[in-house]
Formats: sequence, C-alpha cells, structure tokens
Amino acid sequence: MNRTEMLRRVKGREKIWDFIIIGGGATGVGCAVDAASRGYDVLLLEQSDFGKGTSSRSTKLVHGGVRYLAQGNLRLVKEALRERGLLLKNAAHLVKIQPFIVPCYSLWQKIFYGAGLKTYNLLSEKYGFGKSKILSRKETLSMLPNVKTENLRGGVLYFDGQFDDARLLIDLVKTAAEQGATVLSYAPVTELTRSENKIGGVKFQDAETGERFAAKAKVVVNATGAFCDAVRRMSDEKAERIIAPSQGIHLVFDKSFLPSENAVMIPKTSDERVLFAIPWHGKTLVGTTDTPIENVELEPKAFEKEIKFVLETAGNYLQKQPKPEDILSVFVGVRPLVKHTKPKRTAALSRDHTIEIDKSNLLTITGGKWTTYRQMAEDVINQASAKANLPARNCATKNLKIHGSCEDSDEFGDLAIYGADAEKVKKIIEENPDLAEKLHADLPYCAAEIVWAIRFEMAQTVEDVLARRMRILFLDAKAAIEIAPATAEIMAKELGKDKIWIDVQIESFIELAKNYLGFQIL
Ligand SMILES: Cc1cc2nc3c(=O)[nH]c(=O)nc-3n(C[C@H](O)[C@H](O)[C@H](O)COP(=O)(O)OP(=O)(O)OC[C@H]3O[C@@H](n4cnc5c(N)ncnc54)[C@H](O)[C@@H]3O)c2cc1C
Repeated sequence: MNRTEMLRRVKGREKIWDFIIIGGGATGVGCAVDAASRGYDVLLLEQSDFGKGTSSRSTKLVHGGVRYLAQGNLRLVKEALRERGLLLKNAAHLVKIQPFIVPCYSLWQKIFYGAGLKTYNLLSEKYGFGKSKILSRKETLSMLPNVKTENLRGGVLYFDGQFDDARLLIDLVKTAAEQGATVLSYAPVTELTRSENKIGGVKFQDAETGERFAAKAKVVVNATGAFCDAVRRMSDEKAERIIAPSQGIHLVFDKSFLPSENAVMIPKTSDERVLFAIPWHGKTLVGTTDTPIENVELEPKAFEKEIKFVLETAGNYLQKQPKPEDILSVFVGVRPLVKHTKPKRTAALSRDHTIEIDKSNLLTITGGKWTTYRQMAEDVINQASAKANLPARNCATKNLKIHGSCEDSDEFGDLAIYGADAEKVKKIIEENPDLAEKLHADLPYCAAEIVWAIRFEMAQTVEDVLARRMRILFLDAKAAIEIAPATAEIMAKELGKDKIWIDVQIESFIELAKNYLGFQIL
C-alpha cells in the first residue's frame, strides 16, 4: 500500500469510478472493501489519516450492546452479535474474546444481571463467545482483585469481543486495496460536482502538495461520520442537520487498577450509562461519557467534568482508586448520532444506522457502530449499486478474511497485532537489528514498527505512527511525547526528509499530545 502509487492512479484519470466514497473511518473503509470485493471500481478519499476520526477513539469493544438489551431491542443486539462472531472469524489477529464481570452489590442485581446476560448469550446463537455465569463473592474477588469489597454479593461473568480499532482499520484499508480499491489519505473533498443535475463527482485536494483534482463517479457515498452534515450541505445547502453530536471520553491507567485479564462492566452509572474498565495493551482503559456538543472537531477535547465523572465512578467500584495524576492518557470520540426526526427521502433501515439518498443522489450513511460496519457497508452498496444501475453482484464480505488475519498471532508476542504480517516486520529487524530496540520501557513497541508503518501502511506523520499505527499516544501520552523526536528522526531517514521537517513534526505532535495528558486539563 503506497500513497504515491494511489496518487498516480487518480492523476489524469478520465474514466468514471463506480463509487467515490468520502471518509476513511470504519464506515467508509467498510464500504470500500464491500464494493471492491464485488468487483466495482472504487475511490476512497480521507481528509486526514485513515481512522483519524471516531474510528480510532472507541471503547475497543466488539459487542452486541448490553445497552440495547436493556432497551429491549433484541433484534439489534442479535444482528450485532452475529457481526461480532464474523469479526472474530475474519480478523482473528485483532479481535479477542474478553471475559467481563458485572460486580453485584445486592442479590437482586445478581438475579437481574444474571438473567439479562443469559439472554445476551442466547441471542448470539451459533456465534456465542462463551456461557455467562453467576459468580460467588469469593469467585468475583479472585477474578477481579481490585474490586470494591464492601457489600459485594458476587458478580456475573459474560463474554464479549475486544479489539484494536485503529489497527483493524488499517488492515481493512489494506484489504480494500488488495481487492482493487484506490485509497487515498490526506485528500479532503472540498466540493461535489454535478452531471445532469445529479451529484456526479467530487473535487479534492492533495493536502500534502495542495494540488487539486476532480474525479467523476456513478455514485458518491458520504461516509464522513459525525462530519456528514457538512458534506450533505455541499449537495444541498439548505439540508437540515441530521447529526446530534455527542462526545465520549476514555481514561487510560496502568495495569494495577485492573490486575487481571478480566474486564469490569458497570451497567448503570449515575447518568444512566454503562461504564467499562478493560485491559488493553497492558494498560487499563476506562470509559465512557455521553456529552452533547455543538461543533464537531477532528481533535475533540475532554471536559473537566467528564474526567472527574469517570474518575469518581471508577473509584466507586475499585479498591485502589484512580487519581488525576494516575491518568496516562485521555482520548475523546464523537458519536455520529442521528436525530430522530427523519430527513426527507430517507431510506432509514430498521437498524441503528441511517442511509439517506438526497434529491441529487448523494448517498449518506451514518450512525451504527464499529461492530456493525460490515452490515452497514453491505446495505449501502446494495442500495447504491441499484441506484446507479450497476450490474447486481452479491456481497462477498461475510467470509472475506481481513488482511493479516491468522489464528495463531499470539505466538508473535509483541508483534501479534500484525497477525500474518508479523514475519515481515521481523524481517525488517533481521535486516537492521538496531531496529529491534524498544521505543519505551513501559511499552511493547519497537523501532522497526515505525519503518513498517511508513513502507506498508501509508503513515505520513509522527502522529499517524504514534497514535494509530502504534497506539502509544492513546496508551501513555507522556511516553509518546518522549518518543516523538526519535520517531521523527527514523521517519525522516526513511522518507528522505530534512531537519526542518523533523522540527515541524515534533512541534506539532507535542502540541497535539498535550490534549491527551489528563493532568493538563484538571
Ligand atoms: C466514545 C465512543 C465509544 C465507542 N465505542 C464503541 C465500541 O466499543 N464498539 C463499537 O462497535 N462502536 C463504538 N463506537 C462507535 C464507533 O466508534 C463509530 O460508530 C464508528 O467509529 C464511526 O465510524 P465512521 O467511519 O462513521 O466515522 P469516523 O471514524 O469519524 O470517520 C469519518 C471520516 O470522515 C473523514 N472526513 C470528514 N470530512 C471529510 C471530507 N470533506 N473529505 C474527506 N474525508 C472527510 C474524517 O476525517 C473521518 O476520518 C464508539 C463511539 C464513541 C464516540
């Protein structure tokens, strides 16, 4: 996967694409994989790095949604549980079965959550991850050593999926490219163009050089998540907003706050939400919140009251309580929540995502969740191909292995996230043993991964490498700041960049990383 090659494909191209997809998050990349694997001709454009938006900022759960279960929306839960099973099968290197425990502080909670999670398991049918079980107080304490003991009556054990969202996204981008899609990062769409009064293409820029391009397509798909209203207004300047954005924060702590392989699920916080504490890459990730916001930004910032809320709620359930100075990283994602008032001509599906085709044929797909990206893409490409009178072709993604998928990735140790590619990363180390050096004592990553990210994963900046190819910024922001200069040096050597480039990269990364340092905010 190489950006220069991708640019070459779009330069001077006259031929009309079947699909142009705007947005390089889970939804857009999922659509690119679906369309390309059906044999359609696809161009995907992302304004920043792949996964820069919400898709790298999730709670890292591949789940049916216990929240939907509480709302009685069993059909939605069933669909997501099926998708969870497909993801485990098709991306075995990145999706893992994760045990969760709901600590119970009354007998009633044990019965209520025990019954609910049994239903959850039954709904998964042949895609089940393991049977739920009611635990005694003793069992709960041995499985969750740091849980609050006062009044603890026991717990309920159940199983869900856990993953590395940005890594899965990069592997999906590679899958799309392998299936023949042209995928371009740092390519913001600035305008939609018309042909016979319908949307027939886009204008976009190469953000690195400023060069402008135009491309034509039979259908343009707007998969820009929480940003989708801005693109809808490129088609119809009077279009009403359909997104009611809401942000959710996560705090990351060291492993001592969750010193086992089991995650905690708090089913009802004081603001009626679910809070998770999960083991992730050797740290403890806790989240999330639900705070309505006015404006959607690529780098949303945590509010002080959100950080205090997560610290306080986690503290109510943990013996060793997290304090502001324990925060290693705070990251924020924006939910592309669709307002209930349906826009005109909406082909809203009976799922939690919405597909709108406006009067100029711009197709917008939004809502949903990471877990269901594949089903969303299947629905979009079915509708879009029919709209464009393209020859009907069946969806092929249910059994399509995602790039890197392999059953035994654990044997690659710290390189397990690369799955089948781990051998190739090892080869880089064999060629240059200096690159085996760990980037930070507390983190599993080594210098060879920087070289890999540049050569094979289209990483362009220090941020791309430290935030999404490796997850260092999300795991430990201070460590990421310390590593930034060495990362910039290695990148510059690989990319043939000068000292000025290095300085600019370090400065802009540190500026950004400051937002992830919890104590700066409190
Ligand atoms: C706090 C939080 C926790 C979550 N946790 C989970 C979870 O645990 N499990 C789960 O299944 N789901 C979870 N979700 C939901 C899931 O993360 C989102 O539904 C999903 O990531 C949305 O993906 P997307 O591609 O629609 O949007 P995004 O990932 O935001 O992608 C949209 C992309 O469009 C690009 N773009 C915008 N404008 C333009 C333009 N003009 N030109 C080119 N590109 C453009 C943006 O740069 C962006 O990269 C969570 C969401 C939040 C907010």
